[in-house]
Amino acid sequence: MDTKEENIGGTAVKYFVVQRDDEESRHLTQLFHQLASERGMEHDNKNPDIVLSIGGDGTMLEAFQLYKHKLEKIAFVGLHTGHLGFFADWKRDEIHELVSMMASTALDSQTIVQYPIVEIELETKNGKENYLALNEFTLKGVDRTLVAQLYINDQMLEMFRGDGICISSPVGSTAYNKSLGGAILHPSIEALQIAEIASINNRVFRTIGSSLILPKHHHCDIFPREQQNLLVTIDHRSILRNDLISVRCIVSPKKVNFARLRPFPFWSRVREAFISFEIGN
Ligand code: NAD
Repeated sequence: MDTKEENIGGTAVKYFVVQRDDEESRHLTQLFHQLASERGMEHDNKNPDIVLSIGGDGTMLEAFQLYKHKLEKIAFVGLHTGHLGFFADWKRDEIHELVSMMASTALDSQTIVQYPIVEIELETKNGKENYLALNEFTLKGVDRTLVAQLYINDQMLEMFRGDGICISSPVGSTAYNKSLGGAILHPSIEALQIAEIASINNRVFRTIGSSLILPKHHHCDIFPREQQNLLVTIDHRSILRNDLISVRCIVSPKKVNFARLRPFPFWSRVREAFISFEIGN
């Protein structure tokens, strides 16, 4: 991330808002534009310094996917309009404070946190396709159980049979992965996690059963058995495929930047999202 200390009293901060399509998010977006303009910030969808998501975690996933080609130049921040989100940690009544912090905070190594993401390469009958996931990639069977060989670092681990396989980033470890019984990973750990979705285990079929955590520079490959109808999900988006030959997942060399405009340690975020319940959120 480039240091943007010139933002203070210098070049205007450029921002873009990705909003959820509901009345409150639309209203807060209008209010944000008004307050941002009063603070001399510039609305810019091509080269924003900060992308603000207004809505829920799904809105942040949408913002990430919209700007995944410019990750090194952008910092993301989230304001929630529903319940407290994992990415959307600013509340609706903090919008004035948020604008003021965005307009006056220099984006540098002190105010940016960088999180690992998952890079996915799909090998299909028509060539290769590359994707990035902020939360996770999943592969599932559509009309039948998924049957696929799982390889780690070019060695076969198992023949998987079940609903599917989920490969998550550390920030995604608190999302779908958590519901699958996977571990919560601190995002300073550059790793990806493989979790099973309802694997079949009996006297005939066997999988490892535990979720697996792979460090940076390791890779895993999934080779689905031919002629299966599959569902590929990348964060909140899903695609039906019947042309997949293999999938490779690695910890991406790219990272996602989040603007840390005030301290909010990861474990506090975990506690607030899953343990403590604030009335009104
Ligand atoms: P959404 O925005 O309603 O998100 C679904 C739920 O996941 C929400 O409660 C959201 O707050 C939570 N969530 C999303 N990212 C999170 C994160 N990093 N940490 C903690 N909680 C998080 O629905 P959507 O727009 O379809 O979002 C897609 C996401 O939903 C996927 O990336 C996946 O992680 C999650 N998901 C979860 C399950 C499950 O838990 N059984 C199943 C499918 C998808």
